[in-house]
Amino acid sequence: MELVACAYCGDMVDMPFECSYCQDPFCAEHRLPEEHRCVKLRQIRSGRDSKRGVIRDPPKRSGGLGRFFGKKR
Ligand SMILES: [Zn+2]
Ligand SMILES: [Zn+2]
Repeated sequence: MELVACAYCGDMVDMPFECSYCQDPFCAEHRLPEEHRCVKLRQIRSGRDSKRGVIRDPPKRSGGLGRFFGKKR
């Protein structure tokens, strides 16, 4: 069994998790890109955030209309 040091915290782990983005070995705590500040994380995020500013305004209700029901004879 081979011990590998976590590339983030330096803990020796016998079952290292390899980050699928930067290919570095990490312990269970730091295996996620967010947890080890993955060098690729910015690229991942920038790719996802390419479409920003697509916040749509919710449709406004037009209050006031429909108040003209006063057509009584
Ligand atoms: Zn670690
Ligand atoms: Zn990584």
